Amino acid sequence: MASPYEYDLFVIGAGSGGVRAGRLAAMSGARVAVAEEHRVGGTCVIRGCIPKKFMVYASEFTHHFQLAESYGWDAPKTAFDWRRFITAKDIEIARLSGIYVTNLTKAGATIMHGRAVLKDAHTVEVLGDRGGTYTAERILIATGGRPVTPKGLEGIEHAITSEEAFHLHDLPKRILIVGAGYIAVEFAGIFNGLGVETTLVYRGANILRGFDDEVRTHVADEMEKRGIRVVLGCEHERIEKTASGLMNHLTNDIALESDQVMFATGRAPYVGGLGLETAGVTLNAGGAIAVDEYSKTSAPNIWAVGDVTDRINLTPVAIREAAAFAETEFKGNPTTYDHRDVATAVFSQPPIGTVGLNEGDARKQFGKVDIYMSKFRPMKYAFAGKDERALVKLVVEPASNRVLGVHVVGPDAPEIIQMAAIAVKMGVTKAQWDSTCAVHPTLAEELVTLREKHVPVELGVSG
Ligand code: FAD
Ligand code: NDP
Repeated sequence: MASPYEYDLFVIGAGSGGVRAGRLAAMSGARVAVAEEHRVGGTCVIRGCIPKKFMVYASEFTHHFQLAESYGWDAPKTAFDWRRFITAKDIEIARLSGIYVTNLTKAGATIMHGRAVLKDAHTVEVLGDRGGTYTAERILIATGGRPVTPKGLEGIEHAITSEEAFHLHDLPKRILIVGAGYIAVEFAGIFNGLGVETTLVYRGANILRGFDDEVRTHVADEMEKRGIRVVLGCEHERIEKTASGLMNHLTNDIALESDQVMFATGRAPYVGGLGLETAGVTLNAGGAIAVDEYSKTSAPNIWAVGDVTDRINLTPVAIREAAAFAETEFKGNPTTYDHRDVATAVFSQPPIGTVGLNEGDARKQFGKVDIYMSKFRPMKYAFAGKDERALVKLVVEPASNRVLGVHVVGPDAPEIIQMAAIAVKMGVTKAQWDSTCAVHPTLAEELVTLREKHVPVELGVSG
């Protein structure tokens, strides 16, 4: 029987999740439409992971230049041209966005440019000059998230978020970054590396809440060694525009002047004005679209994936959730995505790679855990006489001998953790880990040569 709907699937949002689901569904023969109000590629490609990584690369050269002399090079005369870099970055981002458009179109999906709004459980209106109203059997919401800044803070209109950081006309001389999550820490490294006087202001006692405590302290120390000022335990009271910049009035009677202030104070699911109530889609207590393990919402024919569901807000996770949805609904193979042991990297300087449980959470879950840890100067830096340290740490459950968590800080940590994640996901034991022969000379080999249990000073015993 012919379908009463114009499309088998209507996807709202062409970001990491939406593009993957739309493409896989179209490749299976479904009639698919994908609406995008901004640019195809979404946060990751346009104003997230990818341009951020280019900025990290750009900023790391300072560090390479600093080491060069120790390795026999004449000190290079260097200068950084922000506008040249931004132009090159935008060209590459346009190329990548184009690839996403091509892939979707080749798969047979129809791309609609404009903001999509739900009219009922099967009807979507696409706003804009060439908009229209369309019906679909299934709808997938993949609208992502948006930065949030503190409401009602005096002078907040002078602040930027990561969205604007990718398009600043000029590189500021001084920047103050608020927050100490992924974005704050990554951008602190970027701006510092590009020669901007960088201050990170955080309300808590240590950066990167949720990460392993040892990692947090280690990275904060290393960031300070590289010249980032880290101000802990205080918050903004107001921002004042002055003749010479922006005066940040903080608690504890601190006032710091900067040319830019960037709030990296988290992101929230982008659900406003989507017409969710009309379609019977409910939110959870945190304001994200509530979904079951198949990413199905409270409306029987509507699904949601990615940041709008606020599960684990990472690109590969959005992609896997989307793929599981497409597999279930368009290949007849019910599939859920397992959110356990998702590896993650923070592209701070030095970077972090981590998978599994941190020591604190492992102790809460398992009581007793064994810790194996080493802090050392990577040979590249030791040779240059630099006091930069790497950290490798394993968290092991004594009863089963299972490796519960792996944490790495240092050069290539994100690359290293991708491989370690395979073993952790497979349930590797410490004995199996130890039986793996080292690759020499590398930083990663330190992970497979950790034999002595770490005894915390305050405990005096391994506990
Ligand atoms: P998005 O990629 O945000 O896509 C949503 C799309 O929906 C957008 O294009 C938006 O314009 C569109 N849209 C929204 N509403 C509508 C509507 N009503 N109609 C039509 N279109 C609409 N993750 C990593 O794994 N690694 C990283 O290194 C990393 N770095 C990041 C750096 C930054 C600065 C940021 C902000 C995020 C970063 N992330 C990173 C997170 C990652 O970008 C997100 O987890 C991922 O993009 C989520 O994908 P998504 O499909 O859920 O949403
Ligand atoms: P995070 O949730 O990681 O960090 C937000 C930070 O802002 C925290 O330090 C938080 O403090 C602080 N904060 C929140 N509200 C306030 C406030 N009102 N005043 C002062 N500080 C505040 O969010 P991000 O914006 O950094 O990143 C969003 C998400 O995007 C990440 O969680 C991650 O999932 C993803 N991402 C991933 C990247 C990667 O994979 N490399 C890179 C960038 C983003 P507190 O801890 O005290 O709550």
